[in-house]
Amino acid sequence: MDNFDPAQAFYLLATALFILGIKRLGKVKTARSGNQLAGVGMLLAIVVTLVSPGIGIQLDWTMVAIGLAIGASIGALMARRVEMTGMPELVALLNGIGGLASTFVALSEFWGRKYGATITPENVILGPDVWGVAVVLSVLVGTITFTGSLLAMAKLSGKISGNPILLPMRHLLVAGSLLGGLALGYLAAFHQGSFDPAIMILGLTACAAVFGVISVLPIGGADMPVVVSLLNSYSGIAASMAGFVIGNPLLIVAGALVGASGMILTIIMCKAMNRSLGNVLIGGFGGDAPTTGGASATEYESVKSAGAEEAAMILDAATSVIFIPGYGMAVAQAQHVVKELGEELESRDVTVRYGIHPVAGRMPGHMNVLLAESDVPYEQLWELERINGDFKTTDVTVIIGANDVVNPEAIENPQSPIAGMPILNAHESGTVLVIKRSLSPGYAGIKNPLFERDNCYMCFGDGKQFLTEILAELKEN
Ligand code: NDP
Repeated sequence: MDNFDPAQAFYLLATALFILGIKRLGKVKTARSGNQLAGVGMLLAIVVTLVSPGIGIQLDWTMVAIGLAIGASIGALMARRVEMTGMPELVALLNGIGGLASTFVALSEFWGRKYGATITPENVILGPDVWGVAVVLSVLVGTITFTGSLLAMAKLSGKISGNPILLPMRHLLVAGSLLGGLALGYLAAFHQGSFDPAIMILGLTACAAVFGVISVLPIGGADMPVVVSLLNSYSGIAASMAGFVIGNPLLIVAGALVGASGMILTIIMCKAMNRSLGNVLIGGFGGDAPTTGGASATEYESVKSAGAEEAAMILDAATSVIFIPGYGMAVAQAQHVVKELGEELESRDVTVRYGIHPVAGRMPGHMNVLLAESDVPYEQLWELERINGDFKTTDVTVIIGANDVVNPEAIENPQSPIAGMPILNAHESGTVLVIKRSLSPGYAGIKNPLFERDNCYMCFGDGKQFLTEILAELKEN
Protein backbone atom coordinates (compact mmCIF):
# COMPACT_ATOMS: atom_id res chain seq x y z
CA MET A 1 0.00 0.00 0.00
CA ASP A 2 3.08 2.22 0.20
CA ASN A 3 2.77 3.00 -3.50
CA PHE A 4 -0.91 3.79 -3.27
CA ASP A 5 -1.60 6.97 -5.21
CA PRO A 6 -5.07 8.39 -4.52
CA ALA A 7 -4.92 10.33 -7.80
CA GLN A 8 -4.67 7.06 -9.77
CA ALA A 9 -7.65 5.64 -7.85
CA PHE A 10 -9.73 8.70 -8.76
CA TYR A 11 -8.55 8.40 -12.37
CA LEU A 12 -9.80 4.82 -12.38
CA LEU A 13 -13.14 6.00 -11.02
CA ALA A 14 -13.33 8.70 -13.72
CA THR A 15 -12.53 6.09 -16.39
CA ALA A 16 -15.33 3.86 -15.07
CA LEU A 17 -17.72 6.84 -15.25
CA PHE A 18 -16.69 7.53 -18.88
CA ILE A 19 -17.28 3.89 -19.85
CA LEU A 20 -20.64 3.69 -18.05
CA GLY A 21 -21.60 7.03 -19.61
CA ILE A 22 -20.82 5.81 -23.14
CA LYS A 23 -22.73 2.59 -22.49
CA ARG A 24 -25.80 4.57 -21.42
CA LEU A 25 -25.53 6.81 -24.50
CA GLY A 26 -26.39 3.72 -26.57
CA LYS A 27 -30.11 3.97 -25.68
CA VAL A 28 -32.31 7.04 -26.03
CA LYS A 29 -33.90 6.35 -22.64
CA THR A 30 -30.60 6.37 -20.74
CA ALA A 31 -28.64 8.82 -22.94
CA ARG A 32 -29.27 11.88 -20.77
CA SER A 33 -28.01 10.20 -17.59
CA GLY A 34 -25.09 8.74 -19.57
CA ASN A 35 -24.06 12.23 -20.61
CA GLN A 36 -24.32 13.43 -17.01
CA LEU A 37 -22.23 10.49 -15.72
CA ALA A 38 -19.48 11.18 -18.24
CA GLY A 39 -19.64 14.90 -17.31
CA VAL A 40 -19.15 14.05 -13.63
CA GLY A 41 -16.19 11.83 -14.64
CA MET A 42 -14.63 14.72 -16.54
CA LEU A 43 -15.11 17.14 -13.63
CA LEU A 44 -13.49 14.59 -11.31
CA ALA A 45 -10.60 14.18 -13.77
CA ILE A 46 -10.00 17.93 -13.97
CA VAL A 47 -10.13 18.48 -10.20
CA VAL A 48 -7.86 15.49 -9.42
CA THR A 49 -5.33 16.57 -12.06
CA LEU A 50 -5.23 20.11 -10.69
CA VAL A 51 -4.78 19.12 -7.03
CA SER A 52 -2.49 16.18 -7.73
CA PRO A 53 1.14 16.87 -6.69
CA GLY A 54 2.30 14.79 -9.70
CA ILE A 55 1.41 17.65 -12.02
CA GLY A 56 4.88 18.98 -11.18
CA ILE A 57 4.38 22.70 -11.69
CA GLN A 58 3.33 25.45 -9.37
CA LEU A 59 -0.19 26.42 -10.35
CA ASP A 60 -1.37 30.00 -10.33
CA TRP A 61 -4.84 29.35 -8.94
CA THR A 62 -6.16 32.74 -10.03
CA MET A 63 -5.24 31.93 -13.63
CA VAL A 64 -6.76 28.45 -13.30
CA ALA A 65 -10.00 29.94 -11.93
CA ILE A 66 -10.14 32.54 -14.72
CA GLY A 67 -9.48 29.84 -17.36
CA LEU A 68 -12.18 27.56 -15.91
CA ALA A 69 -14.70 30.41 -15.69
CA ILE A 70 -14.07 31.55 -19.28
CA GLY A 71 -14.13 27.99 -20.69
CA ALA A 72 -17.23 26.96 -18.74
CA SER A 73 -19.12 30.14 -19.71
CA ILE A 74 -18.33 29.79 -23.42
CA GLY A 75 -19.28 26.07 -23.31
CA ALA A 76 -22.58 26.73 -21.50
CA LEU A 77 -23.46 29.61 -23.84
CA MET A 78 -22.73 27.59 -26.98
CA ALA A 79 -24.71 24.60 -25.70
CA ARG A 80 -27.72 26.84 -24.94
CA ARG A 81 -27.63 28.77 -28.19
CA VAL A 82 -26.95 26.02 -30.70
CA GLU A 83 -29.90 24.93 -32.85
CA MET A 84 -30.33 21.18 -33.39
CA THR A 85 -29.56 21.73 -37.08
CA GLY A 86 -26.27 23.43 -36.14
CA MET A 87 -25.07 20.57 -33.93
CA PRO A 88 -22.70 18.97 -36.49
CA GLU A 89 -20.86 22.32 -36.85
CA LEU A 90 -20.52 22.63 -33.08
CA VAL A 91 -19.20 19.06 -32.83
CA ALA A 92 -16.70 19.85 -35.62
CA LEU A 93 -15.52 22.95 -33.76
CA LEU A 94 -15.13 21.05 -30.48
CA ASN A 95 -13.19 18.27 -32.21
CA GLY A 96 -10.88 20.87 -33.71
CA ILE A 97 -10.28 22.53 -30.35
CA GLY A 98 -9.58 19.09 -28.81
CA GLY A 99 -6.99 18.42 -31.52
CA LEU A 100 -5.39 21.83 -30.99
CA ALA A 101 -5.20 21.21 -27.23
CA SER A 102 -3.32 17.94 -27.83
CA THR A 103 -0.93 19.72 -30.19
CA PHE A 104 -0.26 22.43 -27.58
CA VAL A 105 0.28 19.89 -24.79
CA ALA A 106 2.80 17.97 -26.90
CA LEU A 107 4.54 21.13 -28.16
CA SER A 108 4.87 22.60 -24.68
CA GLU A 109 6.29 19.35 -23.29
CA PHE A 110 8.68 19.10 -26.21
CA TRP A 111 9.87 22.67 -25.71
CA GLY A 112 10.13 22.10 -21.95
CA ARG A 113 12.34 19.06 -22.41
CA LYS A 114 14.49 20.51 -25.16
CA TYR A 115 15.01 23.92 -23.68
CA GLY A 116 15.24 23.39 -19.97
CA ALA A 117 11.87 24.07 -18.40
CA THR A 118 10.94 20.39 -18.03
CA ILE A 119 7.41 20.22 -16.78
CA THR A 120 6.68 16.66 -15.75
CA PRO A 121 9.94 14.69 -15.44
CA GLU A 122 8.63 12.26 -12.83
CA ASN A 123 5.56 11.37 -14.86
CA VAL A 124 7.22 10.43 -18.11
CA ILE A 125 6.47 6.75 -18.77
CA LEU A 126 8.31 6.31 -22.07
CA GLY A 127 11.95 6.16 -23.12
CA PRO A 128 13.22 9.24 -24.98
CA ASP A 129 12.76 7.78 -28.48
CA VAL A 130 9.27 6.42 -27.88
CA TRP A 131 8.39 9.64 -26.09
CA GLY A 132 9.51 11.51 -29.19
CA VAL A 133 7.21 9.33 -31.31
CA ALA A 134 4.30 10.15 -28.98
CA VAL A 135 5.06 13.89 -29.31
CA VAL A 136 5.24 13.62 -33.10
CA LEU A 137 1.96 11.67 -33.37
CA SER A 138 0.19 14.00 -30.97
CA VAL A 139 1.27 17.09 -32.95
CA LEU A 140 0.58 15.42 -36.31
CA VAL A 141 -2.88 14.03 -35.54
CA GLY A 142 -3.89 16.97 -33.33
CA THR A 143 -3.04 19.55 -35.99
CA ILE A 144 -4.72 17.58 -38.80
CA THR A 145 -7.81 17.38 -36.58
CA PHE A 146 -7.71 21.12 -35.92
CA THR A 147 -7.44 22.41 -39.49
CA GLY A 148 -9.60 19.61 -40.96
CA SER A 149 -12.36 20.29 -38.40
CA LEU A 150 -12.34 24.05 -38.98
CA LEU A 151 -12.75 23.44 -42.70
CA ALA A 152 -15.52 20.88 -42.07
CA MET A 153 -17.27 23.45 -39.87
CA ALA A 154 -16.98 26.15 -42.56
CA LYS A 155 -18.43 23.76 -45.16
CA LEU A 156 -21.29 22.63 -42.92
CA SER A 157 -22.26 26.18 -41.97
CA GLY A 158 -22.15 27.31 -45.61
CA LYS A 159 -19.32 29.81 -44.97
CA ILE A 160 -17.56 28.13 -47.88
CA SER A 161 -19.13 26.00 -50.61
CA GLY A 162 -20.15 22.49 -49.52
CA ASN A 163 -19.25 21.20 -52.98
CA PRO A 164 -16.09 19.12 -53.39
CA ILE A 165 -13.17 21.44 -54.15
CA LEU A 166 -10.73 19.57 -56.35
CA LEU A 167 -7.33 21.31 -56.40
CA PRO A 168 -4.94 20.60 -59.27
CA MET A 169 -2.31 18.04 -58.21
CA ARG A 170 -4.23 17.43 -55.00
CA HIS A 171 -3.02 13.83 -54.66
CA LEU A 172 0.57 15.04 -54.86
CA LEU A 173 -0.14 17.75 -52.29
CA VAL A 174 -1.82 15.27 -49.95
CA ALA A 175 1.02 12.74 -50.23
CA GLY A 176 3.70 15.47 -50.03
CA SER A 177 2.34 17.11 -46.89
CA LEU A 178 1.81 13.80 -45.10
CA LEU A 179 5.13 12.23 -46.06
CA GLY A 180 6.96 15.54 -45.45
CA GLY A 181 5.38 15.76 -41.99
CA LEU A 182 6.31 12.18 -41.15
CA ALA A 183 9.89 12.68 -42.33
CA LEU A 184 10.28 15.82 -40.21
CA GLY A 185 8.69 13.99 -37.28
CA TYR A 186 11.17 11.11 -37.69
CA LEU A 187 14.09 13.55 -37.63
CA ALA A 188 12.66 15.37 -34.60
CA ALA A 189 12.20 12.10 -32.67
CA PHE A 190 15.35 10.19 -33.58
CA HIS A 191 17.99 12.62 -34.87
CA GLN A 192 17.86 15.50 -32.49
CA GLY A 193 21.67 15.82 -32.42
CA SER A 194 22.02 16.49 -36.13
CA PHE A 195 19.06 18.81 -36.74
CA ASP A 196 17.40 21.56 -34.77
CA PRO A 197 14.41 19.67 -33.35
CA ALA A 198 12.45 22.90 -32.89
CA ILE A 199 12.56 23.59 -36.62
CA MET A 200 11.67 19.96 -37.38
CA ILE A 201 8.66 20.00 -35.08
CA LEU A 202 7.42 23.36 -36.38
CA GLY A 203 7.80 22.06 -39.95
CA LEU A 204 5.84 18.97 -38.95
CA THR A 205 3.07 21.18 -37.52
CA ALA A 206 2.90 23.20 -40.76
CA CYS A 207 2.75 20.03 -42.92
CA ALA A 208 -0.02 18.59 -40.72
CA ALA A 209 -2.00 21.85 -40.96
CA VAL A 210 -1.80 21.78 -44.76
CA PHE A 211 -2.71 18.07 -44.88
CA GLY A 212 -5.79 18.68 -42.70
CA VAL A 213 -7.07 21.32 -45.13
CA ILE A 214 -6.34 19.63 -48.44
CA SER A 215 -7.64 16.24 -47.35
CA VAL A 216 -11.05 17.72 -46.39
CA LEU A 217 -11.37 20.14 -49.35
CA PRO A 218 -12.40 17.49 -51.94
CA ILE A 219 -15.06 15.96 -49.67
CA GLY A 220 -18.62 17.05 -50.48
CA GLY A 221 -21.07 18.46 -47.94
CA ALA A 222 -23.16 15.25 -47.99
CA ASP A 223 -20.24 13.34 -46.54
CA MET A 224 -19.24 16.00 -44.05
CA PRO A 225 -20.95 14.41 -41.01
CA VAL A 226 -18.97 11.22 -41.68
CA VAL A 227 -15.79 13.30 -41.84
CA VAL A 228 -16.73 15.04 -38.59
CA SER A 229 -17.15 11.65 -36.95
CA LEU A 230 -13.76 10.55 -38.31
CA LEU A 231 -12.14 13.77 -37.07
CA ASN A 232 -13.74 13.11 -33.71
CA SER A 233 -11.92 9.78 -33.69
CA TYR A 234 -8.65 11.56 -34.63
CA SER A 235 -9.08 14.03 -31.77
CA GLY A 236 -9.29 11.03 -29.40
CA ILE A 237 -6.14 9.47 -30.87
CA ALA A 238 -4.30 12.81 -30.53
CA ALA A 239 -5.44 13.11 -26.89
CA SER A 240 -4.33 9.55 -26.18
CA MET A 241 -0.88 10.33 -27.61
CA ALA A 242 -0.76 13.51 -25.51
CA GLY A 243 -1.52 11.26 -22.52
CA PHE A 244 1.66 9.28 -23.29
CA VAL A 245 3.61 12.52 -23.68
CA ILE A 246 2.72 13.78 -20.19
CA GLY A 247 2.41 10.32 -18.62
CA ASN A 248 -1.25 10.72 -17.72
CA PRO A 249 -3.08 7.36 -17.81
CA LEU A 250 -6.52 8.96 -17.69
CA LEU A 251 -5.84 11.00 -20.81
CA ILE A 252 -4.53 7.87 -22.55
CA VAL A 253 -7.70 5.92 -21.72
CA ALA A 254 -10.17 8.78 -22.37
CA GLY A 255 -8.49 9.52 -25.70
CA ALA A 256 -8.59 5.85 -26.68
CA LEU A 257 -12.31 5.72 -25.82
CA VAL A 258 -13.05 8.73 -28.02
CA GLY A 259 -10.80 7.36 -30.78
CA ALA A 260 -12.50 3.95 -30.79
CA SER A 261 -16.08 5.19 -30.43
CA GLY A 262 -15.57 7.81 -33.15
CA MET A 263 -14.22 5.15 -35.49
CA ILE A 264 -17.14 2.78 -34.74
CA LEU A 265 -19.63 5.59 -35.42
CA THR A 266 -17.83 6.45 -38.67
CA ILE A 267 -18.13 2.84 -39.83
CA ILE A 268 -21.82 2.65 -38.84
CA MET A 269 -22.55 5.85 -40.81
CA CYS A 270 -20.67 4.58 -43.87
CA LYS A 271 -22.66 1.32 -43.73
CA ALA A 272 -25.98 3.18 -43.41
CA MET A 273 -25.07 5.17 -46.57
CA ASN A 274 -23.66 2.08 -48.27
CA ARG A 275 -20.32 3.81 -48.85
CA SER A 276 -16.83 2.69 -47.97
CA LEU A 277 -14.71 4.99 -45.83
CA GLY A 278 -12.13 5.11 -48.65
CA ASN A 279 -14.84 6.26 -51.06
CA VAL A 280 -15.88 9.03 -48.65
CA LEU A 281 -12.28 10.19 -48.15
CA ILE A 282 -11.41 10.22 -51.84
CA GLY A 283 -14.25 12.70 -52.17
CA GLY A 284 -16.25 14.08 -55.07
CA PHE A 285 -19.69 12.91 -53.82
CA GLY A 286 -22.30 15.49 -52.90
CA GLY A 287 -21.24 18.16 -55.35
CA ASP A 288 -23.44 19.67 -58.01
CA ALA A 289 -26.75 17.84 -58.07
CA PRO A 290 -26.31 14.65 -60.03
CA THR A 291 -29.17 13.45 -62.18
CA THR A 292 -30.84 10.11 -62.47
CA GLY A 293 -31.41 8.43 -65.81
CA GLY A 294 -31.01 11.77 -67.58
CA ALA A 295 -33.80 13.42 -65.55
CA SER A 296 -33.04 16.60 -63.65
CA ALA A 297 -33.31 16.42 -59.88
CA THR A 298 -36.33 18.73 -60.00
CA GLU A 299 -38.07 17.50 -63.20
CA TYR A 300 -41.18 15.47 -62.37
CA GLU A 301 -43.92 14.42 -64.76
CA SER A 302 -46.95 13.18 -62.88
CA VAL A 303 -47.09 14.44 -59.34
CA LYS A 304 -50.33 14.50 -57.36
CA SER A 305 -50.70 16.97 -54.54
CA ALA A 306 -53.06 17.08 -51.58
CA GLY A 307 -54.06 19.92 -49.28
CA ALA A 308 -54.38 19.68 -45.51
CA GLU A 309 -58.09 18.86 -45.72
CA GLU A 310 -57.54 15.94 -48.10
CA ALA A 311 -54.60 14.67 -46.06
CA ALA A 312 -56.74 14.79 -42.91
CA MET A 313 -59.45 12.77 -44.65
CA ILE A 314 -56.92 10.12 -45.70
CA LEU A 315 -55.61 9.88 -42.15
CA ASP A 316 -59.15 9.79 -40.74
CA ALA A 317 -59.83 6.61 -42.70
CA ALA A 318 -56.58 4.87 -41.66
CA THR A 319 -56.11 2.22 -38.99
CA SER A 320 -52.31 2.18 -39.08
CA VAL A 321 -49.95 5.10 -39.68
CA ILE A 322 -46.16 5.34 -39.80
CA PHE A 323 -44.48 8.75 -39.53
CA ILE A 324 -41.06 9.09 -41.18
CA PRO A 325 -39.18 12.15 -39.98
CA GLY A 326 -36.22 13.59 -41.91
CA TYR A 327 -34.00 16.64 -42.02
CA GLY A 328 -36.95 18.88 -42.94
CA MET A 329 -38.67 18.05 -39.65
CA ALA A 330 -35.61 19.41 -37.86
CA VAL A 331 -35.61 22.55 -40.03
CA ALA A 332 -39.33 23.12 -39.48
CA GLN A 333 -39.10 22.22 -35.77
CA ALA A 334 -42.19 20.11 -36.36
CA GLN A 335 -41.47 17.43 -33.75
CA HIS A 336 -44.01 18.72 -31.20
CA VAL A 337 -46.91 18.95 -33.64
CA VAL A 338 -46.02 15.49 -35.05
CA LYS A 339 -46.42 14.13 -31.58
CA GLU A 340 -49.75 15.92 -31.11
CA LEU A 341 -51.00 14.55 -34.42
CA GLY A 342 -49.86 11.06 -33.39
CA GLU A 343 -51.78 11.35 -30.12
CA GLU A 344 -54.90 12.57 -31.93
CA LEU A 345 -54.74 9.55 -34.25
CA GLU A 346 -54.18 7.19 -31.34
CA SER A 347 -57.27 8.58 -29.64
CA ARG A 348 -59.10 7.37 -32.77
CA ASP A 349 -57.68 3.85 -32.33
CA VAL A 350 -55.08 4.24 -35.06
CA THR A 351 -51.80 2.34 -34.54
CA VAL A 352 -49.07 4.98 -34.68
CA ARG A 353 -45.35 4.33 -35.10
CA TYR A 354 -42.28 6.27 -36.22
CA GLY A 355 -39.84 4.80 -38.72
CA ILE A 356 -36.31 6.00 -37.91
CA HIS A 357 -33.57 5.82 -40.51
CA PRO A 358 -30.02 5.76 -39.06
CA VAL A 359 -28.85 8.69 -41.24
CA ALA A 360 -32.05 10.72 -41.39
CA GLY A 361 -31.24 14.36 -40.66
CA ARG A 362 -27.69 15.58 -40.47
CA MET A 363 -26.17 13.62 -37.60
CA PRO A 364 -26.57 10.16 -36.11
CA GLY A 365 -29.53 9.97 -33.75
CA HIS A 366 -30.83 13.36 -35.00
CA MET A 367 -34.45 12.19 -35.24
CA ASN A 368 -34.36 10.26 -31.96
CA VAL A 369 -33.14 13.36 -30.14
CA LEU A 370 -35.87 15.57 -31.61
CA LEU A 371 -38.69 13.11 -30.97
CA ALA A 372 -37.42 12.40 -27.45
CA GLU A 373 -37.45 16.18 -26.87
CA SER A 374 -41.18 16.20 -27.65
CA ASP A 375 -41.78 13.13 -25.42
CA VAL A 376 -42.76 10.66 -28.12
CA PRO A 377 -42.80 7.29 -26.28
CA TYR A 378 -39.60 5.28 -26.99
CA GLU A 379 -41.65 2.19 -27.85
CA GLN A 380 -43.10 4.03 -30.85
CA LEU A 381 -39.65 4.67 -32.37
CA TRP A 382 -38.90 1.75 -34.70
CA GLU A 383 -35.55 1.28 -36.36
CA LEU A 384 -35.28 0.62 -40.09
CA GLU A 385 -34.66 -3.14 -39.86
CA ARG A 386 -37.59 -3.62 -37.47
CA ILE A 387 -40.18 -1.61 -39.34
CA ASN A 388 -39.30 -2.17 -42.99
CA GLY A 389 -41.34 -5.37 -43.34
CA ASP A 390 -44.46 -3.62 -41.99
CA PHE A 391 -44.99 -0.93 -44.66
CA LYS A 392 -46.87 -3.38 -46.89
CA THR A 393 -49.55 -3.74 -44.24
CA THR A 394 -49.65 -0.05 -43.26
CA ASP A 395 -52.48 2.17 -44.47
CA VAL A 396 -50.73 5.55 -44.52
CA THR A 397 -47.10 6.65 -44.25
CA VAL A 398 -46.55 10.34 -43.52
CA ILE A 399 -43.10 11.58 -44.54
CA ILE A 400 -42.09 14.83 -42.88
CA GLY A 401 -39.13 16.53 -44.56
CA ALA A 402 -37.40 13.25 -45.44
CA ASN A 403 -36.21 12.61 -48.97
CA ASP A 404 -33.06 10.53 -49.54
CA VAL A 405 -33.90 8.03 -46.80
CA VAL A 406 -37.17 7.09 -48.59
CA ASN A 407 -35.84 7.24 -52.17
CA PRO A 408 -36.62 3.90 -53.91
CA GLU A 409 -33.82 4.65 -56.40
CA ALA A 410 -31.44 3.33 -53.77
CA ILE A 411 -32.82 -0.18 -54.19
CA GLU A 412 -34.12 -0.04 -57.76
CA ASN A 413 -31.43 1.78 -59.76
CA PRO A 414 -27.89 0.38 -59.51
CA GLN A 415 -26.60 3.52 -61.31
CA SER A 416 -27.98 5.87 -58.66
CA PRO A 417 -25.42 7.73 -56.49
CA ILE A 418 -27.22 6.32 -53.45
CA ALA A 419 -27.55 2.76 -54.87
CA GLY A 420 -27.41 0.20 -52.10
CA MET A 421 -28.18 2.65 -49.29
CA PRO A 422 -30.80 1.02 -47.08
CA ILE A 423 -34.06 3.00 -47.21
CA LEU A 424 -37.35 2.97 -45.37
CA ASN A 425 -39.78 1.21 -47.73
CA ALA A 426 -42.46 3.91 -47.47
CA HIS A 427 -43.46 3.35 -51.12
CA GLU A 428 -44.89 -0.06 -50.15
CA SER A 429 -47.60 1.34 -47.90
CA GLY A 430 -51.20 1.94 -49.01
CA THR A 431 -50.91 5.73 -49.27
CA VAL A 432 -47.88 7.96 -48.86
CA LEU A 433 -48.16 11.62 -47.83
CA VAL A 434 -44.94 13.58 -48.38
CA ILE A 435 -44.82 16.88 -46.53
CA LYS A 436 -42.14 19.22 -47.91
CA ARG A 437 -42.02 22.69 -49.38
CA SER A 438 -41.23 21.86 -53.01
CA LEU A 439 -39.89 19.15 -55.29
CA SER A 440 -36.30 20.12 -54.38
CA PRO A 441 -33.94 17.22 -53.89
CA GLY A 442 -32.51 16.11 -50.56
CA TYR A 443 -28.88 16.09 -49.50
CA ALA A 444 -27.73 13.66 -52.19
CA GLY A 445 -29.10 16.10 -54.78
CA ILE A 446 -31.04 13.51 -56.80
CA LYS A 447 -34.57 13.02 -58.07
CA ASN A 448 -36.93 10.93 -55.94
CA PRO A 449 -39.29 8.79 -58.11
CA LEU A 450 -41.43 8.09 -55.04
CA PHE A 451 -43.08 11.48 -55.65
CA GLU A 452 -44.44 10.21 -59.00
CA ARG A 453 -45.89 6.95 -57.66
CA ASP A 454 -49.63 6.35 -57.88
CA ASN A 455 -50.01 5.94 -54.12
CA CYS A 456 -48.10 9.16 -53.31
CA TYR A 457 -49.51 12.62 -52.56
CA MET A 458 -47.24 15.63 -52.19
CA CYS A 459 -48.31 17.95 -49.37
CA PHE A 460 -46.47 21.15 -50.22
CA GLY A 461 -45.68 23.41 -47.30
CA ASP A 462 -43.53 23.91 -44.24
CA GLY A 463 -43.57 20.76 -42.11
CA LYS A 464 -44.82 22.38 -38.92
CA GLN A 465 -47.46 24.53 -40.58
CA PHE A 466 -48.86 21.72 -42.73
CA LEU A 467 -49.09 19.30 -39.81
CA THR A 468 -50.78 21.97 -37.69
CA GLU A 469 -53.37 22.42 -40.43
CA ILE A 470 -53.97 18.65 -40.71
CA LEU A 471 -54.41 18.46 -36.93
CA ALA A 472 -56.91 21.31 -36.96
CA GLU A 473 -58.87 19.62 -39.78
CA LEU A 474 -58.92 16.31 -37.91
CA LYS A 475 -60.09 17.93 -34.69
CA GLU A 476 -62.91 19.63 -36.54
CA ASN A 477 -64.36 16.25 -37.55
P1 NDP B 1 -32.82 14.99 -47.10
O1 NDP B 1 -31.66 15.90 -46.92
O2 NDP B 1 -32.72 13.92 -48.10
O3 NDP B 1 -34.13 15.81 -47.44
C1 NDP B 1 -34.62 16.78 -46.59
C2 NDP B 1 -35.84 17.39 -47.22
O4 NDP B 1 -36.41 18.23 -46.22
C3 NDP B 1 -35.54 18.26 -48.42
O5 NDP B 1 -35.85 17.59 -49.62
C4 NDP B 1 -36.37 19.52 -48.20
O6 NDP B 1 -37.28 19.70 -49.28
C5 NDP B 1 -37.17 19.19 -46.93
N1 NDP B 1 -37.32 20.36 -46.05
C6 NDP B 1 -36.43 21.29 -45.73
N2 NDP B 1 -36.96 22.21 -44.93
C7 NDP B 1 -38.25 21.85 -44.74
C8 NDP B 1 -39.32 22.40 -44.02
N3 NDP B 1 -39.20 23.54 -43.31
N4 NDP B 1 -40.51 21.75 -44.01
C9 NDP B 1 -40.66 20.61 -44.73
N5 NDP B 1 -39.68 20.04 -45.44
C10 NDP B 1 -38.47 20.66 -45.45
O7 NDP B 1 -33.12 14.42 -45.64
P2 NDP B 1 -33.19 12.93 -45.11
O8 NDP B 1 -33.34 13.07 -43.65
O9 NDP B 1 -34.18 12.14 -45.88
O10 NDP B 1 -31.77 12.31 -45.49
C11 NDP B 1 -30.57 12.71 -44.84
C12 NDP B 1 -29.46 12.84 -45.86
O11 NDP B 1 -28.29 13.34 -45.18
C13 NDP B 1 -29.07 11.51 -46.49
O12 NDP B 1 -28.64 11.71 -47.81
C14 NDP B 1 -27.91 11.07 -45.64
O13 NDP B 1 -27.05 10.17 -46.30
C15 NDP B 1 -27.23 12.41 -45.40
N6 NDP B 1 -26.38 12.32 -44.24
C16 NDP B 1 -26.89 12.15 -43.00
C17 NDP B 1 -26.06 11.93 -41.94
C18 NDP B 1 -26.56 11.67 -40.57
O14 NDP B 1 -25.75 11.34 -39.72
N7 NDP B 1 -27.85 11.82 -40.31
C19 NDP B 1 -24.62 11.91 -42.12
C20 NDP B 1 -24.19 12.10 -43.47
C21 NDP B 1 -25.05 12.32 -44.48
P3 NDP B 1 -37.89 21.14 -49.61
O15 NDP B 1 -36.74 22.05 -49.77
O16 NDP B 1 -38.66 20.90 -50.86
O17 NDP B 1 -38.75 21.50 -48.45
